[in-house]
Amino acid sequence: MLQIKACGLSDVGLARAHNEDCFGIDSEHRLAVVADGMGGHSHGEVASRIAVQSIRSYVDEHLGNHHSRPPEETGECRHAELLETAVRDAHQKVLGAIREDGALYGMGTTVVGFLLCGTTAAVANVGDSRVYRIREGRLELLTQDHTWVNEQVVAGFLSAEQARVHPLKNVITRALGGDNEIKIDMLEVTTQPGDLYLLCSDGLTTMLSDPEIQSALEDRRGLEPTCRLLVDEANARGGLDNVTVVLVEIEESVDDADASEARTAEVVTVDD
Ligand code: CA
Repeated sequence: MLQIKACGLSDVGLARAHNEDCFGIDSEHRLAVVADGMGGHSHGEVASRIAVQSIRSYVDEHLGNHHSRPPEETGECRHAELLETAVRDAHQKVLGAIREDGALYGMGTTVVGFLLCGTTAAVANVGDSRVYRIREGRLELLTQDHTWVNEQVVAGFLSAEQARVHPLKNVITRALGGDNEIKIDMLEVTTQPGDLYLLCSDGLTTMLSDPEIQSALEDRRGLEPTCRLLVDEANARGGLDNVTVVLVEIEESVDDADASEARTAEVVTVDD
């Protein structure tokens, strides 16, 4: 069975007063989420936290009761469906918070989610946060930005590099808490041990180009120092926005017999 080893880091950057990004990691359910909130008076913080917490608890509620046998063994890997419903539920929670407190009107959040079952990872995206995969030294962007500039890139009016520095680069076309009907991009990717997935807010990708991200990731010094390196590099280039990175590494889990042996060995050592 594959499992995840994950690490995340969120930083306010050098120009903003508040950190409106938020992330969540649930290694047990092999889930990672990054959200980048928006809205006046730091209400973006409220929206991104609602999104992350709501997705975490939705997944926990729906996978939490099946500890006896993992879903991949029972043939019940409907993780894409589960993640999509969790994001839809989070959108309703953000809208609900706005309905309850009119002062929150206008808040919203992007979200990217990653949920692994068996060898397949479900990836969800709304907005301009991103999911990349690095496999055998090659960085690949898995998600499409829901931004005005990306629509211009797809239509051939702007190059990717022009879009990255365009004055309208922050205009997003989809968000949780926006239109009542939400459109969620879902994809499923086949993973393998050694794969590294990067979930990040646009505070990273507006400061660093893809080749710069790739070179930071190539320097495989462990997940936590790599998260720190990415954040430091974004801040070294100006840190104009909040920056959040989550790294998810796919690894083969030790089987249950090995794990219990390892636990026993550990206990013996402590007793000595
Ligand atoms: Ca941002």
